[in-house]
Amino acid sequence: MATRQNFSEPQRQSAFEANAHWLRDHRVTGVELALAFEPLRQRGQVYYCENCLFCHSDQVYFDIDHLVPDRSFRLWQKHVDAREPINMVVLCKSLERGDLGCNQSKGARLFVPPERGLALSRTDLDMNCFPVRQRPREWEVARGA
Ligand SMILES: [Zn+2]
Repeated sequence: MATRQNFSEPQRQSAFEANAHWLRDHRVTGVELALAFEPLRQRGQVYYCENCLFCHSDQVYFDIDHLVPDRSFRLWQKHVDAREPINMVVLCKSLERGDLGCNQSKGARLFVPPERGLALSRTDLDMNCFPVRQRPREWEVARGA
């Protein structure tokens, strides 16, 4: 499968670290971890999908994507900028068919289509107990758009 994933492993790890540290140091609207997971969060070990706010301590459920598709950078003749850390976003990733992870659903688009994400498909795994339907979902196109 052709991949647009051109981040190096150190770049990926820095994006994961920034994500978990953000959750450790800030209140993220729409994230409410169960008490049992609070110690993990406080140690900077919980990652969150920046769209559906699915939370987990295992990186296997997430992938790093381009905030702006690298295709656009190519069009702008500034392809190298596509790999800058500021252009990285952590999105949840499908492990099984039908999971509809935000990363796969976004593809090369700017936004994630509605009704996607492990927050909806894998409620059994989500460490975030904030009501799914009330999460802001910043990377989703507006419903009905
Ligand atoms: Zn997601």
